[in-house]
Amino acid sequence: MGSEPFVGCGSIFSILRAMKELTTLLRRLSDQKLLKITYVQRENLTVKRLFFEHFPLALISGLLGFAWSHEWQCIPAALVAGWMLDADHIFDFARYVICNRPNIDMSLIRNGGYFKVNNKVLVPLHAWELTVAMAIFGAVLDSPPLITAAIAHGAHLIQDQGAYKVRPLGYWFISRTMSRFSLNGFCKK
Ligand SMILES: [Zn+2]
Repeated sequence: MGSEPFVGCGSIFSILRAMKELTTLLRRLSDQKLLKITYVQRENLTVKRLFFEHFPLALISGLLGFAWSHEWQCIPAALVAGWMLDADHIFDFARYVICNRPNIDMSLIRNGGYFKVNNKVLVPLHAWELTVAMAIFGAVLDSPPLITAAIAHGAHLIQDQGAYKVRPLGYWFISRTMSRFSLNGFCKK
């Protein structure tokens, strides 16, 4: 059994720190008039979904991994792979900022409207290839945290697949590259 931690709480804190730094950077760019930041809408639905819809399943995956292997690292591994996975929306939001500056509507980060404006879906970590790779490496390295991470990651993708009416192959990265990451190639009509 692998005993080295795959990911620790440090990973979660690094992601949160990066998000805080990004917010500070956006505010600074706005102060220097390089970005004009507005909030057209105030709805908070997606933020709530981003932070709470995947947490229970990721935690259950981690606890099951822990119960099976007695390795505590399974819990943070599942939380990072199954819950914090949505941090990769930052790539899509960054594309929105780059392509639409200086007029940035920050309310789009709350409702996911930047996907529509971009007309593309990047989310590079939402990929079954990653699930498969983690499962294979987890089995080869005999690492319960990595196998637990693969299960939590797969559970997140299945949950998203149903919630966002994604085409059957939408969460395969190779399929998204073939449709040039187009929004229409990702979602069902
Ligand atoms: Zn997701």
